[in-house]
Amino acid sequence: MTQTAPIGPPEVGGLGVHRNAGDLRRHLLLQWFAKAGRAFPWREYTVEWHVLLAEMLLLRTRADIVAKHIGAVIQRFPTAEAMASQGFESAEESLRPLGLRWRAHRLYQLATVIVNDYGGRVPVERRALLDLPGVGPYVASATLSKLTGEKVLLTDTNTVRVAKRVAGLGLEGDIRRRKVVQKAIASLMNGPVGAAEWHAILDLGATVCLPRKPLCTECPIVSLCAFGTAQVEIAPITSLSRQRSGRLGARVESMS
Ligand code: SF4
Repeated sequence: MTQTAPIGPPEVGGLGVHRNAGDLRRHLLLQWFAKAGRAFPWREYTVEWHVLLAEMLLLRTRADIVAKHIGAVIQRFPTAEAMASQGFESAEESLRPLGLRWRAHRLYQLATVIVNDYGGRVPVERRALLDLPGVGPYVASATLSKLTGEKVLLTDTNTVRVAKRVAGLGLEGDIRRRKVVQKAIASLMNGPVGAAEWHAILDLGATVCLPRKPLCTECPIVSLCAFGTAQVEIAPITSLSRQRSGRLGARVESMS
């Protein structure tokens, strides 16, 4: 928990450069992430197949469970060719500890298509990724974010929860595709984000902005969160001028 995450924060500049609340949240979250971000092996992966495989395994499976097993899976299937050539039974056996039997079949199909249609190399292009078996918009965006640095808006459970609370939306259920939620995600850090920002949101959602009892008093963006300011006795930041002078939480005029 306290290890520094391998993807370091990009240059964020001083507080004076932040034009709005999203920029300031980005700054504060990256600062927090540098100290408290989680270290997962896949955050250091640079090989296309490994990055894609990790994102597929992380779908509907907790990160700590994937962390336990992904090393062995990659060792057994270091390439798409290795998975395709060893056959479905081998993939199924290797992925059994992660559960979701259907996923072994999906991954075996994926490896086979990558070998047959792309010569064993994962295509690093959105349209081609989306054509692969089992790859949806989320996995494609996450993969591109890591491999190309493309900025994206991701709708994983943690990001949706954080964005919803920050925006003060009282919505429940599968709300990822709701326009108002998409808008909240977009304003969370003032637009699409790179891998470091995304990992910061993921880790905040997993360790501080918990599903049942968010730890708002420990949250780096409590003053910029509608839910947090309602829970904790702190006035919301509504202008950045006070923030620049170091008075976090002071009452001010207007949030841009
Ligand atoms: S202040 Fe509370 S609700 Fe808001 S993001 Fe932080 S932990 Fe979540």
